[in-house]
Amino acid sequence: MQQLDHQFIDNRWTPSRGERCLPVMNPYREEAIAEVCAGHPDDVDDAVAAAQRALPAWRALGGAERAHYLERFADALARRRDELIRLSSTNNGKVLAEAGIDLDDAIACYRYYAAQARDLDRRQGQLVEVGMEGVEARCYHDPVGVVGLITPWNFPLVTSAWKLAPALAAGCTVVLKPSEVTPLPERALAETALEIGLPPGVLNLLFGDGAGIGAPLAAHPGIDKVSFTGSNRVGEAVMHAAAERTADVSLELGGKSPILVMEDADAEQAADWVMAGIYFNAGQICSATSRLLVHEAIAEPLYAALAARIDALVLGDPLAEGSDMGPLTSARQRENVLAYLAVAEQEGLLAVRDARHRQLPAQGYFVAPTLFRDVPATSRLWREEIFGPVLCARSVASEAEAVELANASEFGLAATVVCADRQRAVRIGRQLQAGSVWINGEQLVLPETGWGGFKRSGIGRELGPWGLSAYLAVKHLVGPV
Ligand code: NAD
Repeated sequence: MQQLDHQFIDNRWTPSRGERCLPVMNPYREEAIAEVCAGHPDDVDDAVAAAQRALPAWRALGGAERAHYLERFADALARRRDELIRLSSTNNGKVLAEAGIDLDDAIACYRYYAAQARDLDRRQGQLVEVGMEGVEARCYHDPVGVVGLITPWNFPLVTSAWKLAPALAAGCTVVLKPSEVTPLPERALAETALEIGLPPGVLNLLFGDGAGIGAPLAAHPGIDKVSFTGSNRVGEAVMHAAAERTADVSLELGGKSPILVMEDADAEQAADWVMAGIYFNAGQICSATSRLLVHEAIAEPLYAALAARIDALVLGDPLAEGSDMGPLTSARQRENVLAYLAVAEQEGLLAVRDARHRQLPAQGYFVAPTLFRDVPATSRLWREEIFGPVLCARSVASEAEAVELANASEFGLAATVVCADRQRAVRIGRQLQAGSVWINGEQLVLPETGWGGFKRSGIGRELGPWGLSAYLAVKHLVGPV
């Protein structure tokens, strides 16, 4: 069995100082395919020291030179496309087509930030218009320093790209901790750093769990900023740790996003977008549109269209071409989702399709795609992030009611509006408290548009120029001329 017991520090694979090991699973076969070290705080010390040593030269290199590395990074991942897609499917359980979308997203992200790094050179030292005669002010953008990046398991190589690419573009050096659940695809980042000759210490990759690496990294005095994607529980702990030393944080956390279907929508078309919003990646998407608000005039045809599509979904081996949905990524996540389905039963929720409506594959951490209708807004299933293939629906009598219910959530990551009248859809979208609102379409995530949430869905934005700003400190040079 493969042993991931070395940490990538200073461009060398060094044995972890930790002694605990964790199994790395294939969630379809329900078998361990590797073992990963849980890490040790001493690993963090070593990685932070390496990143600190590398910082002055990397910062001084300039955006254009760093852009070359980012382009080579993208090229190297693209060369390994098929292998990485299979690795991601095997370790995460997502079907091949989805793993392909992920990898292309990651590659596009490195390319986008290569262009942003070049543009950063142009922006350095720009004149700022000031109202005082004889005074010159110029604006510079310095890297924030050594950054700690912590990512979850649901989109391997993607959530790390959204942090790593802009951090490197900005001139920061990095200590990256991927999820201990999906370390196999993420190891490619270290391999790529070696392949493209990234200077030692610029990217340090630490395997481990929260206790071994995550918490010591978030609390490390040598880390100038922490960018975290994951659960609210851990995100809040990361923020506490950073607050102890007044360090900056970016947080990409949970969601309970709504999809609004208005009375003039086409039920069949709307059903396709509803399906993609909740059953993609077996529902393990932070932006899953897991709350369906449908106008009462179209509710019955929409439920019928959804039921037909749910029945047609093929659950199976994520590596098999015919599969539409794979297993959940871990036994633990399946337990979490099944616990919510037990609550649904206790609450007597009305199911269009419940968890037992179909035979599941004989192996794998599968949960059947489920759809509950007329779910009360007080239900835990309506309010809490489930992170599985569970869709809760309610009908509404008006646009105003739809908007009010959509916004009645502690989260605000994303939303979708389906409405034949585009202008009206845009008007509704403008009223929603969410960082991304899709209008009549699937969840298009583009490197040029920002990503992040209102309310408890997080702090800050990734992607776009905002994703770069997250790793830059603004500086002004001001004086008489
Ligand atoms: P998690 O919070 O359990 O773990 C995330 C990462 O934090 C992992 O690498 C984990 O090892 C690490 N960690 C655990 N304890 C830590 C600690 N005390 N200090 C520092 N790091 C620690 O989340 P998860 O189960 O991996 O992912 C699922 C969650 O992620 C969901 O809530 C989902 O909504 C969220 N998510 C959000 C986005 C977004 O963009 N907003 C994207 C993907 C996932």
